[in-house]
Amino acid sequence: MISSKSPNIDSIHRAGQYRIPFNRPYLSKHETQYIAEALSSGHISGDGTFTKKVSQFFENTLANKKTLLTTSCTHALEMTALLLDIQPGDEVLVPSFTFVSTINAFVLRGARPIFIDIRPDTLNIDEKLIAGLITKKTKAIVPVHYAGVAAEMDVILDIAREHDIAVIEDNAHGLLGKYKGRYLGSFGNFATQSFHETKNFSCGEGGALIINNNTYTERAEIIREKGTNRSRFYRGQVDKYTWQDIGSSYLPSDILAAILLSQLEEAEYIQATRAKIWHYYHEHLADWANKNKVILPTVPDDCEQPYHMFYMLLPDLTARQNLIEYLKSKGILAVYHYLPLHLSDMGEKFGGKIGDCPITESISDRLLRLPFFVDLSDEDQKYVVDSILDFKKW
Ligand SMILES: *Cc1c(COP(=O)(O)O)cnc(C)c1O
Repeated sequence: MISSKSPNIDSIHRAGQYRIPFNRPYLSKHETQYIAEALSSGHISGDGTFTKKVSQFFENTLANKKTLLTTSCTHALEMTALLLDIQPGDEVLVPSFTFVSTINAFVLRGARPIFIDIRPDTLNIDEKLIAGLITKKTKAIVPVHYAGVAAEMDVILDIAREHDIAVIEDNAHGLLGKYKGRYLGSFGNFATQSFHETKNFSCGEGGALIINNNTYTERAEIIREKGTNRSRFYRGQVDKYTWQDIGSSYLPSDILAAILLSQLEEAEYIQATRAKIWHYYHEHLADWANKNKVILPTVPDDCEQPYHMFYMLLPDLTARQNLIEYLKSKGILAVYHYLPLHLSDMGEKFGGKIGDCPITESISDRLLRLPFFVDLSDEDQKYVVDSILDFKKW
């Protein structure tokens, strides 16, 4: 297994020494214009015109009750921990195969992470393991829709209802994806989005908290605004704003919302292009994968994916590392992904040990992500595929 102490791959994502990088943030048509408009409007702090337009986009598209833009998906997750009054000793169920923020937001409030293994097909939290891990202290389940392919929400929501536990969808990968015809992010009590530069829509750093239960909305606005009722004040509902609750500063500048709006206006083009790239990989690598015991992504019939990434599962760690090295020699940056959280330094402090989540441990060693971004040209993508088809050193 790759040690959790291996150098972070983020630094090489952007190093620029590759003919074909892993990711390149997409620049849409109107970012510069909208930034200029935000600057000249005189309102560049949070909750200006652009923030309203972006929130509206989400509320209209996802048919959710309320969307609050945040400074990151991490911060949106932290807000859910505050809204649910997570206390020291509370338990939160989370897949081990995810980004640290999915659980760190709760650990920050003193929660104990309960790491759950993933399904070998969709790489999502294995819903069959959840019921057996629920205790009196369980407060929340945080499924991640890996690569934007939905976790088994029907089962998860049934368990949550039965035990009166909150569900928070970490939907960082899943914006505009669907499960049984309904948008991801509309199932949990809350969902969180990311607009980090590596996501389908980006403003550099940013996120959103989606609230599907109205009872949380007013308190969410207060927590996001330093514990004050400034949002009500701006709407003219109170004549001064004051300290109401705990809280922090979770609202992004309107300049960031301006960037995001420009990207969302091109959602159709962005998604259609990502779909084309994903299907090209899938089609042109299928035979090769079959012959070499490589597994391509599984998308169940009731899931519509938003084409967040293209990954492959290699037969073993050696083959995966050899393919990464070989592609590097061709000027192509392909990368692995999450290291099992239960085996990280922090995970071990919570009692995690080898063998706790065998599927996660195996997948983490074998998964490889290919370059995937809107501006990947046909020619460059063909070069990636041709290079893979030529790979010999298993
Ligand atoms: C990117 C990501 C996050 C964190 O997003 P930020 O906006 O960078 O805080 C959280 N969870 C998952 C699954 C992610 O992919």
